[in-house]
Amino acid sequence: MSTKFDVVVVGAGPAGLAAAYKLASAGFKVLVVERGREPGSKQVYGGRIYTYWLEKYLPEIKGAPIDRWVRKERVSLMTEEEATTLEFGVVRPEKTSFVSPLASFAAWLGKLAASAGAKIVTEAVVDELMRDDKGRFIGIRSGSDKITADYIVDAEGVNRLLLERAGIVPRLKPELVAVGAKEVLKFENRKVMEDRLGLSEDEGLAWAFAGWPTEYLPGGAFLYTYKDSIALGIVLYLSAWEKLSTPVYDLSSALGRIPTWLR
Ligand SMILES: Cc1cc2nc3c(=O)[nH]c(=O)nc-3n(C[C@H](O)[C@H](O)[C@H](O)COP(=O)(O)OP(=O)(O)OC[C@H]3O[C@@H](n4cnc5c(N)ncnc54)[C@H](O)[C@@H]3O)c2cc1C
Repeated sequence: MSTKFDVVVVGAGPAGLAAAYKLASAGFKVLVVERGREPGSKQVYGGRIYTYWLEKYLPEIKGAPIDRWVRKERVSLMTEEEATTLEFGVVRPEKTSFVSPLASFAAWLGKLAASAGAKIVTEAVVDELMRDDKGRFIGIRSGSDKITADYIVDAEGVNRLLLERAGIVPRLKPELVAVGAKEVLKFENRKVMEDRLGLSEDEGLAWAFAGWPTEYLPGGAFLYTYKDSIALGIVLYLSAWEKLSTPVYDLSSALGRIPTWLR
């Protein structure tokens, strides 16, 4: 492929797709290049999306795939044996946050961007941001394909290897990034899940855990309720990792420090 676009967007995550949707809606000729199979296929996160900015800049959010609005919050400060838990209700849940798998959310955003006219190419890795002889960025190279554009939106995510390779940003410092593991537990009967968590029908819960799950190191654990499953996760700053007794490849075993009655 060698075509000229107004804007080429690297990455079909939420940032790239939102940018592509807005630009295509404004009449620009937009290309999105994503290495995954489809928009959403590379997206993993905790589970909760805040609506404040989305409502401001993406009123279409009302049509997004929403599993549950977060109506209840819990914060547990834990030791190995005990926990002190604060619980509070969200005053205006439908103006605050919801739980949705990021893969579904990005797939929805992808459809929105495509319907506005953005071209989305998947299973293509951007290898390089191209420059002209004056050093100005003029497009991207993906394998043997060279695509020129007036503007490049780099939305490759926190691991911004292209920007590092282009010398625009330094390598990320370990104290600025975290490593995480997440497990999704599905319930055959969503009522069982709601009863175990003390929730009423369709009530969404966001629960944060601090202390014991990360052996008191910087980071924390979380639980979010999807429609009929829970996301259980742990996040630890990379700089603290070597102090944890659990090796990084076995991070998900640290999730066992979250109360077992949930399982
Ligand atoms: C454990 C964990 C829990 C989290 N929990 C939450 C949460 O509950 N709520 C929340 O709002 N946020 C959460 N986040 C943060 C959230 O995941 C990110 O803020 C969000 O994914 C950033 O979106 P993005 O579009 O910038 O990047 P990404 O979602 O990382 O998307 C980047 C895309 O670019 C593609 N890409 C990268 N390089 C190339 C290349 N060279 N060529 C082609 N394609 C490329 C990738 O395949 C990917 O699809 C969490 C993150 C982690 C790690």
